Amino acid sequence: MISTDVLVVGSGAGGSVASLELVSQNFEAVLAEAGGDVDLERARSGYSPVTSSIEILRGEGLGGTTLVSMGNMLVTEDVIERFKGLGVDLTAEIREVCELTSVSKVPEDKLPPFAKKFIDVAEGTGLKTKVMPKSIYFDRCIGCGRCAYGCPAKAKISALDLIKAGMQRGLKVLTRFRVDKLHRRQGKLIAEGLVDGNRLKVECRALVLAAGALETPKLLAQLHDDESVGRNLFVDPFVTIGGPYDGPPSSEGIQMAAYIDFGDFMLSPHYTGLLQFQLAAKGVDLGSRRIASMMVKVADEGKGVVWPDGVVETRMTRRDLRVLERGVEKAKELLIELGVKENEIAMTHVRGAHPGGTAAIGRVVSRDLTIAGCDGVFVADASLIPPPLGKPPILLVMSLAMKVARRVCEYLR
Ligand SMILES: Cc1cc2nc3c(=O)[nH]c(=O)nc-3n(C[C@H](O)[C@H](O)[C@H](O)COP(=O)(O)OP(=O)(O)OC[C@H]3O[C@@H](n4cnc5c(N)ncnc54)[C@H](O)[C@@H]3O)c2cc1C
Repeated sequence: MISTDVLVVGSGAGGSVASLELVSQNFEAVLAEAGGDVDLERARSGYSPVTSSIEILRGEGLGGTTLVSMGNMLVTEDVIERFKGLGVDLTAEIREVCELTSVSKVPEDKLPPFAKKFIDVAEGTGLKTKVMPKSIYFDRCIGCGRCAYGCPAKAKISALDLIKAGMQRGLKVLTRFRVDKLHRRQGKLIAEGLVDGNRLKVECRALVLAAGALETPKLLAQLHDDESVGRNLFVDPFVTIGGPYDGPPSSEGIQMAAYIDFGDFMLSPHYTGLLQFQLAAKGVDLGSRRIASMMVKVADEGKGVVWPDGVVETRMTRRDLRVLERGVEKAKELLIELGVKENEIAMTHVRGAHPGGTAAIGRVVSRDLTIAGCDGVFVADASLIPPPLGKPPILLVMSLAMKVARRVCEYLR
C-alpha cells in the first residue's frame, strides 16, 4: 500500500497541471496513469478510440490525449464569461497556463501555404479569420503536418513537459496503473488497480479524478450517488471535407494554423488520410492535383451519456445536425472559391475528439469546485466543462485543473 496526500488519476491535460500545482505547493502527490510511457515521437501508438454512434478519438499513455493534439491553445472571451457566470473566474489561471506552456500564435513564416490561401480566400468572401494560438516550439517545428501522430520533431509542448517539471519537484508517477476501484476506509480514500497484473492500493487524503470525460464518471460513480454523473456528454463532432485542386496541399505544415469562429461551429485548415479513401470511393481521380481540405467542428448540445457500466452513448440532436449542415455548406463555398470542383468534394465520417461535460460545474461539481456530499474527491479534467464548447479544450481544461488543485490545497490545509 502506498500512502500519499493526494492521488491524481489520469495524466492528460487536467492531471498533469493538477499534479504539478500540488507538488509545487509542497504536497505529496502520486500520479496514476493507465497507459504506458509513450514517447511524443511514437504517440500514435497510444490512440485508444471509443466506438459509439460517433467515433471518439483519445490518447492513452503518460500525457494523455495532449500527445496527439494539434497544439491548439484557445479559450474565447465568451467561454471565459460563461465560466464567470458559473462563479469560476479563470482569468489568472489562463494567463499562468499560457506562460507555463509558452502559448503564442503561429508566426507568419510558419504559416503553411495552404493556411495562407484559406485565410486569403475566406477574407475575400468577407469572413473574419484568426491565426491559431499554439503550444509549439516553432523553431523546432519541421512543418511535417503530422501533429496528430505525436510530433516527430518533438516541437510540441504537451502534458509530458508539465509532468517532467512535477517529477523534478517530487511528483511520483505510476504508469500502467489503471485505477478501477475506489472506496473509503477509516476516513481515508483508497484507490485500487492493476499494475502489470498485480493489485496495487494507494491511500490518500484527497483524490483528484482526471481520467478524461469518458472514464472519470465511471470512477466518480463509485463514490458519489448522483444520477447527473456521466450525463451531458459532448464530443464537439467534426468532419474533414475537401477535394483536389491546383494549389498547395492541406496535408503539409502545421495543422489548424488558422480558424474562423462562427459561434456554434468553426472552420480550420485540416487534412486526414481518410479523405483519400472517400475521394477514391467517389471515383475522383487526383491525377497530379493536391488536396485542399478543412475541418468543420460543431459545438454539440451534449446529449450523450457515459453509463456506470462504461457504455458510451453519443447523440447528435436535430439542432446539432442542422449546425453541421450549415458548417459543411460554408466549407463547400470556400473549397469552391479555392478551385475545388463541387462534384469532387468528399467528406469523412463524423468523429469527436473533445469528450467533456460528464461531471460539469453547476451540475455535478459545485461552483466552489467541491462535490457536495463527497468529501475529499475532486474532478480536474474535461468532465468539468458544461456543454456546449466547440473549441479546442486543452487550455480551458488546464486552467480549470490549476484552479481545482488550489482548492485541493485549501482542503488539505
Ligand atoms: C487527434 C486529437 C487532436 C486534438 N488536438 C487538440 C488541440 O490541438 N487543442 C486542444 O485544446 N484540444 C485538442 N484535442 C482534445 C484534447 O486533447 C482533450 O480535450 C484533452 O486532452 C482532454 O483532457 P483530459 O485531461 O480531460 O483527458 P486526457 O488528456 O485524455 O487524459 C486522461 C488520461 O487519463 C488516463 N486514464 C483513463 N482512465 C484511467 C484510469 N482508470 N486509471 C488511470 N489513468 C486513466 C488516460 O490514459 C489519459 O492519459 C485533440 C484531441 C485529439 C484526439
